[in-house]
Amino acid sequence: MRIILLGPPGAGKGTQAKSMSESLGIVHISSGDLLRDHQARGTELGNTAHSYMQQGLLVPDELIIGMIEERIQLPDAKNGYVLDGFPRTVEQAKALEEALEKQGETIDRVANISVSEEELILRLGGRWICRQCQKPYHEVNSVPRKHGVCDDCGGELYQREDDVPEAVSHRIKVFAEQTTPLIRYYTEKGNLVEVDGEGRIEEVRESLLSAVA
Ligand code: ADP
Ligand code: ADP
Ligand code: ZN
Repeated sequence: MRIILLGPPGAGKGTQAKSMSESLGIVHISSGDLLRDHQARGTELGNTAHSYMQQGLLVPDELIIGMIEERIQLPDAKNGYVLDGFPRTVEQAKALEEALEKQGETIDRVANISVSEEELILRLGGRWICRQCQKPYHEVNSVPRKHGVCDDCGGELYQREDDVPEAVSHRIKVFAEQTTPLIRYYTEKGNLVEVDGEGRIEEVRESLLSAVA
């Protein structure tokens, strides 16, 4: 099973991808998490990506495409994956399709999670992430049992440097301009399903699981 989660920043892609990957027994591949890992390790890709990410702009397609193509070749991706944050442009979607075609593979489902802009701003402003396993929390909507500590792995929670108002508003704008064309692209391919992302985390999880079943 190969699934893509589409949706604006803060829609709940990371939250839902993590739980879907556990329910379906497939890996969760997040382009943002991979980029932040490159940054933490100080790789060339991480250093190049940093200024784009900090401003809420997209990292150039050729860098992202290479990184994801490598990731989906790893043995743990053989059974399938949930892609979170990739593709974000039509160029990226086409490159993914070509890479899969070479192996006789396709994407099974693309789920588009929609959430209003007011709600996105509230979600991103209160987001905390586990430094170790990348699980997202929220200071009101998804509070960890112990302040500042991940329920799942005990890792330290931190706030992303791009979850500040200026970068958030850039990311929402970039999504509208560069990522919404993908909705039409996948609608035309016939494998897009729409999911209402406004409900509680558990409700969205149920809708998503039935949408991709
Ligand atoms: P969010 O969860 O808030 O949508 P992500 O963690 O997915 O954010 O992405 C953070 C940043 O990483 C983006 O603002 C962008 O700079 C970069 N990035 C992640 N995925 C991609 C991609 N597919 N193409 C280009 N840039 C990307
Ligand atoms: P994305 O990966 O799409 O940027 P996240 O999964 O990181 O989104 O979620 C953004 C923030 O919103 C996090 O703080 C998360 O805990 C919270 N969140 C996720 N889903 C919901 C929901 N259905 N209702 C309320 N808050 C949510
Ligand atoms: Zn954790």
